[in-house]
Amino acid sequence: MAELKFTIKFITPLLIHGVIHGTEPPAADHLGLAKALRGCWRFWFRAAVGNMVSDDELRRLESSVFGSAEEETGGAKFRMRVEPVGDLGDPAVIDLGLSRPATTKGYREGCEFQVSVLPRGRMTNDERRALSAAISLWGHLGAVGQRARRGFGSPVILSGKTSFNSPRGLEHYLRTVIEQTEKMLQEFLKAKGVSTATGRAPGSSACFTLGGLGQVAVGPASRGTDIDAVLKQVHGTNQCLKGCRDSCSGLGHAVAGRLASPVFLRLHKLDDGYCPVVTWSRSDGGHSDCARQWLLKLGFGSYLSGDPI
Ligand SMILES: [Zn+2]
Repeated sequence: MAELKFTIKFITPLLIHGVIHGTEPPAADHLGLAKALRGCWRFWFRAAVGNMVSDDELRRLESSVFGSAEEETGGAKFRMRVEPVGDLGDPAVIDLGLSRPATTKGYREGCEFQVSVLPRGRMTNDERRALSAAISLWGHLGAVGQRARRGFGSPVILSGKTSFNSPRGLEHYLRTVIEQTEKMLQEFLKAKGVSTATGRAPGSSACFTLGGLGQVAVGPASRGTDIDAVLKQVHGTNQCLKGCRDSCSGLGHAVAGRLASPVFLRLHKLDDGYCPVVTWSRSDGGHSDCARQWLLKLGFGSYLSGDPI
C-alpha cells in the first residue's frame, strides 16, 4: 500500500523529552519524535472516534489502525520514518514564561521534519484512511511534545494551508478540515460494520473527546508576531481564575494527580501574527466553568458551530 509522506513544520518551539533531559546527542529517529507522533495520532483518533462508539469498540478499532500495545514493539500496522529537513543545530534554551529561570531546551519554531508512514501489508485502505484523518486532526488542532496543550510544538502540514489572512479565514479552513475528517472516520466505521448511533456528548466520556465543531474555537485576532510573548499570554496559570485551590481540574492543573487538561490550545499562523485555537472537552463537569473563565479571558467568543463559549 502507498506510503503517506508529508512534511511538518513547527510554528512554535518544540519541546521533546529527549532534548530536555537527555545528555545524549539526538538519536537516529530524532528525539523520539516518531514515537511521540504515533502517540499523538492515537490520541486524536481516540478523541474523534471515542465520541461515536462504545469503549470496547474503540479499543478494537484503535488496534486495527495502530496495532495493539503488544504489537507495537514487534509488528505495528505501519512503520514510520521521521527525518529533519536541513540541519536542526543544537537545541536552544526556551523560555516557558514561568517565574523560574528558563532551562528547558528544545528546537526553535521553524524546524521541519519529513514524515514517512509505511503501511504494512495487513493494513487495509479503510484503516489507512482513518490514520490520515487522525493525522489531519493532529496537524490542525493538536501539537506534540511537552506543554503541547499550551501552545508549544504546534505543527502545520506543508501540503495544506499554513497561514491565514484572518481568524475568519482560519475558522473556515478548520471547519472544512473537521467535516472532512468526520466523513472519513464515518466511512471507516461503516467499512468496519460499526454502528455510529451512540453520538455521546463529551460530558459523558472519561477521556478527551471531539464531538465536532461545537468544541473548537478560534481566537478573535492575532496576538502579535513575537512567539515567546504570545506563548506567555496563552500559557495559562497555575492559579484557577475562580479561586479553586489545589483541586481544580478545569485546566488540568490539579497539584495532586496531574490530570490531563480537558482543554487543548495550540497556535496557528495568521499573516500578522499568531492566533490561538482551542479544543475543549468538557469531561469534568465540576470545574468546567474554571476553564471557561480562562478562555473568556483569552478573548474566545464562539465555537465554530456559532455557539457562544
Ligand atoms: Zn477552578
